[in-house]
Formats: sequence, C-alpha cells, structure tokens
Amino acid sequence: MPIINRIAEFHPEMTAWRQDLHAHPELSMHEARTSAIVQDRLREFGVDEIITGMAEHGVVGVIRNGTSDRAIGLRADMDALPIQEETGLPHASQNPGVMHACGHDGHTTMLLGAAKYLAETRNFDGTVYLIFQPAEEFEAGADKMVKDNLFGRCPMDMVFGLHNWPQAPAGTFLWRTGPVMAAVAWFDITVTGKGSHGAFPHQGVDTIVVSAQIINALQTIVSRNVEPIQGGVVSVGHISGGEAYNILPEQVRMRGTARWFKPAVGDTIEQGVRRLATGIAASFGATAEVKFTRHAPATVNDEAATELAVAAARAVSGDAQVRTMRDPTMGGEDFAYMLNAKQGSYLMLGGGRGPDEPMLHHPRYDFNDEILPVGASWWAALTERMLPRKG
Ligand SMILES: [Zn+2]
Ligand SMILES: [Zn+2]
Repeated sequence: MPIINRIAEFHPEMTAWRQDLHAHPELSMHEARTSAIVQDRLREFGVDEIITGMAEHGVVGVIRNGTSDRAIGLRADMDALPIQEETGLPHASQNPGVMHACGHDGHTTMLLGAAKYLAETRNFDGTVYLIFQPAEEFEAGADKMVKDNLFGRCPMDMVFGLHNWPQAPAGTFLWRTGPVMAAVAWFDITVTGKGSHGAFPHQGVDTIVVSAQIINALQTIVSRNVEPIQGGVVSVGHISGGEAYNILPEQVRMRGTARWFKPAVGDTIEQGVRRLATGIAASFGATAEVKFTRHAPATVNDEAATELAVAAARAVSGDAQVRTMRDPTMGGEDFAYMLNAKQGSYLMLGGGRGPDEPMLHHPRYDFNDEILPVGASWWAALTERMLPRKG
C-alpha cells in the first residue's frame, strides 16, 4: 500500500488548504483563524465530536468506530514564526512579520487530509483523536494541552507526531528510538554596572567587559561541567548594550539558548549559567540578573510505538524510503511534553529540498506540497494498523 488512493484524490484540495494557511500565518497562542478553519473542516468531514478551548486555540477532533476501547492520538501543530517572508510566492504570507517557516501549515493540512479519509472510510475499530495543537514554537502549547487534561478527556493508548525535514528526500521517513530531539531552554542575562565615559572607565563599572567574561565562561559549562560523553550546548545569540564610541553603558542584555538530553545535564547547565553570570558580575562589582526558562524536555521515542510508526511508514513509502536517524538532533520540540505523559513516537518526513535550499525557520523556506498525501497516508495507515478491524 503506497499512498492511499483515496487520499491522493484529495491532493489538489489539500494543496489549496495548505497554501491558504500559509498565506494567513498566526503566531503562537494567536491561532484563532487557523483553529476556526480546522473546526469547520472537521465538522464538514463529519467527525463525531470536536473538543475546543484546550490551550486556548487547541482543537481535538474525535472519530469513533466499532466496539474496541483502544484509542490513538495523532498530533499536528498550527502556529507560525515571527519572520518576514521572502519567498515571493503567490501564497506568501499576508501578515507582515509572521510566516509559516517551519511547515506547521503542512502538518495541519496532512492531519486534516487524514481526518477526511478516516471520517469517510472508518476502516478501523476504536477511537481516533486528531489533536491540533497551538503554540509549538513558543509558550509550549503541548504542555498547556496536557495541563488542560488532554489525556484525561481523550484517553488514548499512544500518541504520535510528525515533522517535515526539508533536506531529506521527498517522502522519506526518518526515525529512531530513544532521544530524537533535545531539551530546550531560553535564558536572559541582564548585567548592571555603572555607566561612565570611555576615557574615564575607573569612574564606572564597565558592563561590556563584564559581559565578555561571562560569555567566555559560559562556554566552559559544557566542556568542563558536563560529562564529556553526554550531549549539551550553550549558545549566546543576542547581546546589546551601549551605542556610542565613548560611552560605557550602565546595562548589557544577553539572550541565549541551551540544549541537552539528560535532565541532570539540564540542571548542570542551568546552575552553571546562574553561577557564572552572577558570580562573575559580582567579582567585578556589577550585578547580573538571570532568567532561565525551560521550553521543552527532550523528545524521547518509545520502542513499541516507534515500531508501529515505522511499519506504517514502510507501508506508505516502501522499505528503501524509511531510514534510521543515526543521531538525535539538537533541535527541540514541545511534543516532548506529550511523550512524557503518554507512550508514543515522533518521526520526520523528508521534504525533498536540496542541501543549499532554505532550511526550517528560514525566510525563503516553503513546505513542499508534494508530500501532503504521503503524510496524510501515514496517519491513516498508522491508525488502521493500531486499531485493526476484527475479522
Ligand atoms: Zn520550528
Ligand atoms: Zn516545527
């Protein structure tokens, strides 16, 4: 069974849905239009129930069939990014400064395609929960849905997620058991000293020099505090302070991200960032305020769930198009919160873009509509495999 024929028939329709979502991207926790469209479509497909209001704009479509009490959760994300689109495409973003640069427009569409097929054919025995999640990029919408009792209201045995991976061949599935994506934190460091003239530094406390020491020292956390065989990274991505040749600013602000797999490594990194920033600042007579926010834990795939997901991928794309990922990636994913609470797995689907073409989060990236029926067929095959009809 390659791409499901009935789903291939929806391809033009799915392409139109995807491009409409692409033209109207919405930031994390602002997915009102997208959520309304998802609800309209699910109603039109004839799903049995639509649950709204989880994590504000979250939607769960429910399709029941037969007598089995087994249930599967299929999850897509709906939000876009604060990026000014530069694709110049006819369906480019109409919202200035907001863009579907991570392909969540494609993810939402693939799950809608599966919803249409599953509601129409009902070739399964049990319950399917179609989970449309807000705020993957920021604000941890998956965590919010779990806290809004997603798994209590929608009791499912396993939950699955899928992300497009532009640089892998189109329609190829990538998988691995165990950790697949890293845990993610953001940090803010504000160094406060005493402003002064650049010619009379002895009259102040120079926050630029203090910040330089902090940035260098942060690079010793992974190399000196984390056990060498464990993965981890600390990166400062932003620094601002001062604007003149000869004025030493009172304050410098830094922002950065940290990634890891083992929770204990996360604790070491957080303690390290706090200790070094405040300690170094104090030793120079300045102060540092540190905000360290954990965005998501590591995404860890369950073995049995992954086996099922891989079998469905092989059925759709063929054995040669299903490959193991040798290593996990340092990218992060808030689906981790769902996998922390429920057995499940998260796969990647290749987008067929070349090595020099734009990657995720790039202003010229666009989801490849060719793979819409592949993803939708995978969701459908996975459901029919996990909830087989008797006889
Ligand atoms: Zn993203
Ligand atoms: Zn994404």
